[in-house]
Amino acid sequence: MNIGTVYLIGAGPGDPGLLTLRGLEILQKADVVVYDRLAHPSLLQYARPDAERLYVGKASALHSVKQEDINAIILSRAKAGKSVARLKGGDPFVFGRGGEEAEECRDAGVPFEIVPGVTSSIAAPAYAGIPVTHRDAASSFAVITGHERDDARESGTRIAGVAEQRRDWSKIANGADTLLFLMGVEALPEIAARLQEFGRAPETPVALVQWGTWSKQKVVTGTLADIVEIVKRSGLTPPAVCVVGEVVKLRERLRWFDNPQTRPLFGKKIVVTRARAQASALSDALRSRGAEPIEMPSIKIERIQDTEAIDKALRFLTKYDWIVFTSANAVAIVADRIDALRKDSRLFGGTRVAAIGPATAEALKQRLNVTADFVPTEAVAEAVIAQWPFPDMTDRRVLIPRAKEARELLPEKLREMGAEIEIIPVYETIMDDSGKEAVIEMLKNGEIDAITLASSSTAQNFAHAISGGDAGRLQELMKGVLVAAIGPVTAKTARELGMTPQLVSVEHTIPGLIAALEAHFRVANAITELELPGAQTDDLRA
Ligand code: SAH
Repeated sequence: MNIGTVYLIGAGPGDPGLLTLRGLEILQKADVVVYDRLAHPSLLQYARPDAERLYVGKASALHSVKQEDINAIILSRAKAGKSVARLKGGDPFVFGRGGEEAEECRDAGVPFEIVPGVTSSIAAPAYAGIPVTHRDAASSFAVITGHERDDARESGTRIAGVAEQRRDWSKIANGADTLLFLMGVEALPEIAARLQEFGRAPETPVALVQWGTWSKQKVVTGTLADIVEIVKRSGLTPPAVCVVGEVVKLRERLRWFDNPQTRPLFGKKIVVTRARAQASALSDALRSRGAEPIEMPSIKIERIQDTEAIDKALRFLTKYDWIVFTSANAVAIVADRIDALRKDSRLFGGTRVAAIGPATAEALKQRLNVTADFVPTEAVAEAVIAQWPFPDMTDRRVLIPRAKEARELLPEKLREMGAEIEIIPVYETIMDDSGKEAVIEMLKNGEIDAITLASSSTAQNFAHAISGGDAGRLQELMKGVLVAAIGPVTAKTARELGMTPQLVSVEHTIPGLIAALEAHFRVANAITELELPGAQTDDLRA
């Protein structure tokens, strides 16, 4: 049997977008994926569904897998002919023992490749708005191990190596303008004391960037003289990069990633209650604004199995004057049926098309390359009727493929205008409880900042899932949590269930909902600043 190759891949510092293309390519093909807590878990979605996934590093010493065992696992899989993607936080050859893992492969005769990665030593400061060099502030930088026992546990059974014991503080202190300490949180008192002892001024700026590039990033700043006290008060724990040098001051001007002014959703945990298929669009949008989306799909979309009615309607679509799509789901299902019937968009030639809401119109364009003849400015039945382009619908035939349990208002109104309506249910929305335990736990711990309700049915299902329909319990759990509803109908449902929506988006769309959240947190952040005069905006306010 052929021996498989071991790939030591730099997984980057956390933000999944910082994996290299080469790393992604290997990850997608690997038989075995070995990872630890510094690699972002969402990277695993790129692995083959049938790939073996091995987690080899917990935060606690008791549970971490020993370095020898990690090596043994990797080698045994490779010898069994498997290709092994070993994801290592940051760059594989910047601490983290990538060199030793490569040596083990070499000694065992197992072929290996190195895929460099974005190292946290540079990227974590960058995400804190701190460039490691700058023409006016630093012309060199050094990356140094803080050699700290706590982190030693994190990366296996790390013990002080010869190189670490030889650290010469007189050289470290003056060897480069910017000093970047990895694994330095626990050893910070020693680091700060030694650097001052060997000539660095007490007022030298220092920053600690914890979980850099992750949405839970935290930054504290100070000087060599006071940073130990500041870190102690903030309760900051590893992993963090410690930056020492004048460049730290640039954060005041360059802070971008965790800047509450420009990215008001930064660090906010926001529950997304949409059906799984649609949740990702909202989650992506929230994530791109700095929030941490917590997906709790309360409903899932189930297609109606019997497609006879919709197939027949599509075959004879010319009989209809209008087809009305009330959701992107309906578009997706109709598009699939058109494919299954081996037809295409020419079917729509003689029929006008209405899309209720911009997302539905977008889906029509994407899936079927059909531009809707009519898109109301607001995605509610009332607006659709008020804006309908042809007041006289006498004897016009209208086809509406949609959810089984939708509101009756739109068909009724069209009927009043004289139209002949045919409703074909193509999907139904079903309860989906998965993920509720985790959300309940976070609600209890007060970790959730906001929850988004994208429809009445998601509101109902969410309330039911977390409180079993008990309004008192629901109120208790939702204390201090911002409830954001997509529109007035959803807000009303939420109120009836015992929730208090403080936000109702003006535009009843997902972008509208996000805009409302941003506006809210922008104000909320500003108020917090006011309430804490004199506090460094930067720091964890201990
Ligand atoms: N090979 C890694 C370093 C591994 S040593 C790299 O190139 O980034 C582990 C140390 O890296 C941690 O103790 C911490 O100091 C640092 N580290 C890794 N990821 C980090 C992150 N996202 N934010 C801050 N520090 C991080």
